[in-house]
Amino acid sequence: MSEVYQIAIDGPSGSGKSTLAKGVSAKLGIMYLDTGAMYRTCGLCALKRGISPRDVDAVKKMLDTMELKVEFKDGSQHMILDGEDVTGFIRTPEVSIAASDISALPCVRKAMVDMQRDIASSQTFVLDGRDIGSNVLPNAKYKFFLTASAETRAERRLKELNEKGDFSQNYEEVLRDIKYRDKQDSERASAPLVKVDDAIEIDTSVIGIDETRDLLLSYIKE
Ligand code: C5P
Repeated sequence: MSEVYQIAIDGPSGSGKSTLAKGVSAKLGIMYLDTGAMYRTCGLCALKRGISPRDVDAVKKMLDTMELKVEFKDGSQHMILDGEDVTGFIRTPEVSIAASDISALPCVRKAMVDMQRDIASSQTFVLDGRDIGSNVLPNAKYKFFLTASAETRAERRLKELNEKGDFSQNYEEVLRDIKYRDKQDSERASAPLVKVDDAIEIDTSVIGIDETRDLLLSYIKE
């Protein structure tokens, strides 16, 4: 039987994590888990139920009654919330902010981290997120930490939204949201975004996404 191992790719919003994780997954023929999608689904659930994503008591009750599932169909990840496939509804600016707010709550992190460890335990996975190398899978075989300037990340995010036909935000608004999430993700008490010592740091605004993917693969093949 071949060895089961994990690859952790962490970094702030827009650093290229998901593009790179998808590229690595396709090239190596391994599974990809987007952990941000799980926090986004929690954020969406709060919005749907009219709960503040910062209200600990209400969110605890929500976790008790919410049914969240991660399914992999035809090579892509689907988020199922209370029986409904919500994959197409979790990338809006409102859900991004709700995800950042709700992910700061330890009760939410515990529930999601338990699921992530469980999913990644039986097969080789590449996971992207904020705390994969530091907290979810501290023994991951490969750890990468991606960075890029907030301006480069905002440009990428705006392009991504526009390509999906979403013109609800301009560059300044996207940049403001990115800075809000950066601050919150790095300053929260529970598993903040940090680069661990054994992670390889790559600035994707300097070398670009394609070159970064080749660099990641060269480390993995070594
Ligand atoms: O990666 P993505 O931007 O989709 O993540 C949405 C939000 O979920 C982030 O802003 C962050 O607050 C949270 N998140 C997290 N830990 C992870 C992945 C995402 O706190 N492992």
